[in-house]
Amino acid sequence: MCNFAGILQLMTDLETLKDLLAEPRRIVITTHHRPDGDAMGSSLGLFNYFIQKGHYVKVVAPTDYPYFLHWLPNNPEVIIYTEKEEESKKLVADAELIFCLDFNTLSRINELGEEVRKSAAKKVMIDHHLEPEGFDDFRHWSISACATAQLVYDFIVNDLKDGKFINKDVATCLYTGIMTDSGSFRFPTVTSDLHRIVANLIDAGAENWRIHQLVYDNSTEGRLKFLGYCLSSKLEVLREFNTAIIYISKEEIRKFNIQVGETEGIVNYALSINGIRLAAFIVERDDKVKLSLRSTGDFPANEICKRYFDGGGHRNAAGGQSDLPLIEVVEKFKSILPEYKTLLLQ
Ligand code: 5GP
Ligand code: MN
Repeated sequence: MCNFAGILQLMTDLETLKDLLAEPRRIVITTHHRPDGDAMGSSLGLFNYFIQKGHYVKVVAPTDYPYFLHWLPNNPEVIIYTEKEEESKKLVADAELIFCLDFNTLSRINELGEEVRKSAAKKVMIDHHLEPEGFDDFRHWSISACATAQLVYDFIVNDLKDGKFINKDVATCLYTGIMTDSGSFRFPTVTSDLHRIVANLIDAGAENWRIHQLVYDNSTEGRLKFLGYCLSSKLEVLREFNTAIIYISKEEIRKFNIQVGETEGIVNYALSINGIRLAAFIVERDDKVKLSLRSTGDFPANEICKRYFDGGGHRNAAGGQSDLPLIEVVEKFKSILPEYKTLLLQ
């Protein structure tokens, strides 16, 4: 078993939480808007654990998420806030415990954030992002964790001593979270300890090859053609700043019939160019322009998002948004680069 002492900032007053969980509770699990593989994998992983323990548990996602995550075990149990507002609000208001996974500021769950804040439920945050807002009563938080799914594994196995409940469904969900947030086990957050966890998940029934196929070999024809279009027609390489940009308008999204989540991962192709240290994927959505930044090494992509684009994230993977028109957002992004030139050319 892996020893996390010193790596994880353990939850305050774990014993109180254990006492609360000792009998069946009304539990809501929620995660950030536009959930990704780690958001849904960690949420459904925890859900599949709690149902074995006899809790009354629901996952409430603020918005819908990509079809390539809809196969996750017990996915039909997920309630989408934007589709069932009243039911979601009632669940949150009536909950005794709310688990907040893969986010640490309530603004990341849109209108659901105020419902969670108002609820008398005890709030448990399990997360690996920087700078928690502090809305939680208990936390299991570590920025060195590769994925929230890794922290959920640690919470179940090492805090609650319930490793025997990591069944095939739990393992499948947690494996999905770790695989997607680690770029298929290739980011610097991937350690030998993480591989040991992953090995345990495979032993518990996660079919690694099948999970990879279901998530990554599940493109629509439109998505693949859109990727080709982004790379052949939309990629702009700014060699003087070791930066690559792809920006996409609403019309282009419509033309290729791109669905929620289908732009995910495109930014990584821009970062894969030899010598590129910073990559940006900038996309015009219905209400605002969204930026996805990726960087290599020490370059702080999250600092740019935080300072200029009302966002944040990790050092090498960050996001933000703007109310400016698409072209102005692109110009603003380019105008920031000279300030970071030294770092970008290192
Ligand atoms: P993505 O580019 O995949 O949308 O986001 C990458 C990472 O950046 C996410 O894991 C999340 O931590 C962070 N992120 C994305 N958008 C936002 C945002 O609007 N605000 C904050 N604080 N973080 C964001
Ligand atoms: Mn995550």
